[in-house]
Amino acid sequence: SLSERLESAFKQIKGEGRITELNVAATVKDIRRALVDADVNYKIAKEFTDRIKDKAMGEKVLTAVSPGQLMVKIVKDELVELMGGTESELQSKGNPAVILIAGLQGSGKTTFSGKLANYLKTKKGLSPLLVAADIYRPAAIDQLKVLGGQIGVDVFSEPDNKDAVDIARKAVIQARSLNKNVVIIDTAGRLAIDEAMMTEVANVKSAVNPNEILFVVDSMTGQDAVNTAKAFNDRLNFSGVVLTKLDGDTRGGAALSIKYTVEKPIKFVSSGEKLDTLDVFYPERMAQRILGMGDITTLVEKAQAQFDEEQAKKLEKKIRKNQFDFEDFKQQLEQIKKMGNIKDLLGMIPGVGKAIKDIDISDDAFKGIEAMINSMTPFERSNPDTIDTSRRKRIAKGSGKDIADVNAFMKQFEQMKDMMKMMNKMPMGGKMPGMGG
Ligand code: GDP
Ligand code: MG
Repeated sequence: SLSERLESAFKQIKGEGRITELNVAATVKDIRRALVDADVNYKIAKEFTDRIKDKAMGEKVLTAVSPGQLMVKIVKDELVELMGGTESELQSKGNPAVILIAGLQGSGKTTFSGKLANYLKTKKGLSPLLVAADIYRPAAIDQLKVLGGQIGVDVFSEPDNKDAVDIARKAVIQARSLNKNVVIIDTAGRLAIDEAMMTEVANVKSAVNPNEILFVVDSMTGQDAVNTAKAFNDRLNFSGVVLTKLDGDTRGGAALSIKYTVEKPIKFVSSGEKLDTLDVFYPERMAQRILGMGDITTLVEKAQAQFDEEQAKKLEKKIRKNQFDFEDFKQQLEQIKKMGNIKDLLGMIPGVGKAIKDIDISDDAFKGIEAMINSMTPFERSNPDTIDTSRRKRIAKGSGKDIADVNAFMKQFEQMKDMMKMMNKMPMGGKMPGMGG
């Protein structure tokens, strides 16, 4: 798998403290090839690996993980980012909400329509109406009716009506009178992009003004999936993508290429012919699939936590010897930032979350402090006592703060150190909650 390949590419540099340009160059080539093998478009794979290269350079390698494992994590994080970061919500509110399903023949539109109706009914408590707007194959209507029967969802069809736009319009009216709150329109597809098909779907779109237009694509079609997605998007400006047939041996690289090319979120993935095998799309899971990875991410995350712990121990020692300085202060700020924003952190304290719900707490407070520390020289940071008036003036200038801000900050810092000193003298050994990383 790709993650195995990455790890082995890095095996020889075990023990090095940093990922170096040389190592990265060789590995990046490997990643690129592996991504292409996973059906990622070459140009996209290249741009992607160029970014990985920049990101990997200068990453510190932790003692607990190999550089290869760290590299896998970097690649994974970037993949997740590229695929949108988090899942994307389906708009299913309306009177009724209209969801138009489009895609090539055989991509899985009708099957997906059934799955989506089932999902909205069972998971969202909605009352859907399925609409058979594939007017070319009589069997298509029967197929949707069978699916509707299995999940207990009504199907609107007019076997003798050869006008998809008219069927769609009538279905929406019917939905209102039947008190259905979401209409799913299953349209006809062709084997390849074709003007008549596009015109028809575009006409249905203008007639019913859908809340969502979902483009359904077979993930097994690899690179072709990207071209198809582009053609449909140019014409329909769809709102989301559905990747089907992920139960096959596809690695899912199409997800990456499509998202990158059309800049539309992937909303669902479908894997199997059973009606309950529809999943909301999670970039995290797809990244893992593309990489073919097991537990590496967790391992690296654990190692990073361990790294923080080592730092915390060092810090404790310094506090005990009263050597806490601005460098330590800065590291602590970074730790806090890693944990999330201040409001979220405060919100975790029982009773506090509700009280601060409407208060705007920005993280900017830290920014000023960080700017001041950044304007100190390394010597000043480790020797706070040497920071006299002229140095304070320079720090104020460098950080865009007033001399009064610097003075206030220096005073706070001294008070903090006094408090640490006091705690050191306490019998319990001065264990400080929050300072332990
Ligand atoms: P349509 O022409 O776009 O409406 O596609 P259909 O829904 O009729 O599906 C075409 C074929 O693919 C059928 O044989 C489906 O059973 C099958 N199919 C659809 N979705 C999936 C899926 O997620 N996994 C698998 N293995 N087969 C699927
Ligand atoms: Mg169909």
